Parts: sequence; C-alpha cells; structure tokens
Amino acid sequence: MEMFAFSEAAGVEDAIRAGAESGTAQQGARVRFVAGGTTLLDLMKLDVERPLAVVDINGLPLDTVTKLTDGRLKIGALVRNSDLAYHPDVRSNYAVLSQALLSGASAQLRNMATTGGNLLQRTRCMYFRNRALPCNKREPGSGCSAIEGENRSLAILGTSAHCIATNPSDMNVALTALGAVIQIEGTAGKREVPIEAFFFEPGDTPERENVLDPGDLVTSVTLPPPPQNCSQVYLKLRDRASYEFALASAAIVASVDNGTFSYIRVALGGVASKPWRSLEAEEQLYDQPVDEASFRRAADAALAGARPQSRNGFKIELAKRCIVHALGVATAS
Ligand SMILES: Cc1cc2nc3c(=O)[nH]c(=O)nc-3n(C[C@H](O)[C@H](O)[C@H](O)COP(=O)(O)OP(=O)(O)OC[C@H]3O[C@@H](n4cnc5c(N)ncnc54)[C@H](O)[C@@H]3O)c2cc1C
Ligand code: SF4
Repeated sequence: MEMFAFSEAAGVEDAIRAGAESGTAQQGARVRFVAGGTTLLDLMKLDVERPLAVVDINGLPLDTVTKLTDGRLKIGALVRNSDLAYHPDVRSNYAVLSQALLSGASAQLRNMATTGGNLLQRTRCMYFRNRALPCNKREPGSGCSAIEGENRSLAILGTSAHCIATNPSDMNVALTALGAVIQIEGTAGKREVPIEAFFFEPGDTPERENVLDPGDLVTSVTLPPPPQNCSQVYLKLRDRASYEFALASAAIVASVDNGTFSYIRVALGGVASKPWRSLEAEEQLYDQPVDEASFRRAADAALAGARPQSRNGFKIELAKRCIVHALGVATAS
C-alpha cells in the first residue's frame, strides 16, 4: 500500500474542497472519501486504489432517513445498510430495498457499509482486483483479461469490447426499480441525477463508471412515494445461499388491477455493467394478464440483447427464470 494523507472532513464544504484536490474524473481521482471503508480499504490493500489522500466523511450529518412533506423518502449517504434495511418506512413501503440490502454481504459488513459507499462499490471482476493482469478499468488501454479468460460471473448486458464487468450491488438494483434519485454536492454546486442516468456503460472508457467529478460528494438518495397497492420483490440467485454476489437478480415493483398489470418496474442485477432497468420487460407486461405466458414473454424481451461470453451463456436462461419467478412471487395473491 502506498503512503497517503488522512483527514477528517469537518463539514460538507470541507469534504468537497478536499475531494476536489485531485486531477481527473472520479475513477482516476487521487483523493478518496471513506465511509464504511469495506470496499475502499480492500482495494487499497490490493494496491488497486492508490489515493494520495483519504478524507473520512463519517462525521458529516448525512446519517438520517427522513420522510419529506411531498411523500418522498430521503436517505442520507451515511445511513448504514443495516439501519436502512430495518427502517420501519423502508420495511413497509420499500420492501424491495430492504430485501436487497439484507441479501448482500454479511451482518457485520452491512453494519459498516453506507448508502453512498454501496452505490459506488467497484466491480468484483477478479482481474480488476489483481494488478498482475491487464484490466482496462484499472489501467486504461491495457486490455481486458476477462473477455478471453474467466468470465463466468461477468456481464451479458451493457458490455463493450473493452469491459464486461458487472455492477455488483444488490441495493442499486432495488433503487433502480424504485426510481431513486441521487443528490450530489460538488465544487459546481448541487445537482440531482436519476439513478438510471448516474451510471455509465463501459463503452471505450470503462474506467469512468458514473457522473461524479473530483470532489463530488453523494449526500443523499431520494425515493418517490411507492405506487398504491404495489407489491415488491427482490430475488437473488447465487452460487451459495449467503455471503455471495448475485449471478442474476431481479427487483420487481408491480401493481395489478382487474387481473392485468397497471404498474410495473423491472430491474436486473448480476448480469449487466450497471443496475439494469428493463424497459423491454415492462413494455411486455403493461396491460397484460398476470400469467406465466406474460412473464416468459417479458423475460425473453429483457434478455433479447444479451451478449454472452465463453463461460457465462448460462446466465441468459438463469436471468429469465429469475424474472419469471420474481414476477410470480410479486403477483401471488
Ligand atoms: C466479503 C464481501 C462481500 C460482499 N457481498 C456483497 C453482496 O453480496 N452484495 C452487495 O451488494 N455488496 C456486497 N459487498 C459490498 C459491500 O456492500 C460494499 O463494500 C459496501 O456497501 C460499501 O460501502 P462502504 O460505506 O463501506 O464504502 P467505502 O468503502 O467507504 O467506499 C466505497 C467507494 O465509495 C466512495 N464513497 C463512499 N461514500 C461516498 C459519498 N458519500 N460520496 C462520494 N463517494 C463516496 C469511496 O470513495 C469509495 O470509492 C461485499 C463486500 C465484501 C467485502
Ligand atoms: S471485465 Fe472490465 S474490470 Fe474485468 S478485466 Fe475486463 S476491463 Fe477489467
């Protein structure tokens, strides 16, 4: 591990000023905020993250969940994953988020991990975490070891010839199904970005994963009020029952009126370069009967654009079954 300077931010402005003291865009930045540290410290020990300075943001007043007067729920960036999963409002109105959070990592990790850190966790691609092997995301232009290598756990949607890494977060999939909006503060002021526009597909710049610029601090995430009478499900399929990342997952938010879908959002995890909203699946479901044939048509549409690699073709059928099963659970009366 390289030597780095450490400081504790005294306030949001102080954090932004310290964070902006780096050169390029977010993923190349040499100043890093640390929240729970469960991603950042691992990657620093592996020499994958090599910040010149680490700014501790744990003292900032961003650790509350607040119901806003317009009905939205505001989640501070420092709210711990455990606290969020068990928050009464989240359990009763955003069950898909609670389920997704509790399906991730372990109790100890969830006690440390924060909303902002989970949102920004890096890929688990083994080549990204191994400095001995080429990786375009870690070292732009060096090549992608996964395309001709071990790619069983990697993405089949939203990939490029330069990177096929998955976004590993369960929380992000639920936030996508719920239509979350990310609040950011930086040297240019405050802005809000819907989660669907927050993450980039890799294209030919896989090192640039999201809209953040140096110094940009995620301050909160807001959720719109849930649709009336909706049911919500997060289903995660993985190699073992706990402490494992998704091979495929589906987050469903659905309302049914008179036997047909009146509201539906479908998001996928474990199969794509970013948390993946499937508009194709949703289009197949609107106003359609709630039955297995509709679910299967939606699943086929969701995976129609999949581009499997040498070892992850099984994910196409796995993801389809994940969607079909999750829709079945969400609509079971
Ligand atoms: C063994 C293990 C198993 C895991 N299993 C799962 C799993 O099954 N599912 C899953 O979803 N996750 C899993 N995780 C990942 C875990 O959820 C993340 O490590 C955690 O959510 C990161 O949160 P943190 O607060 O610790 O982030 P940190 O490590 O503190 O930060 C992560 C990144 O976000 C940046 N950052 C943090 N907060 C902000 C902010 N407010 N504004 C701007 N930048 C910020 C940091 O600079 C850093 O780059 C696992 C992790 C481990 C170690
Ligand atoms: S898939 Fe992406 S993260 Fe993995 S080796 Fe290729 S470029 Fe690196």
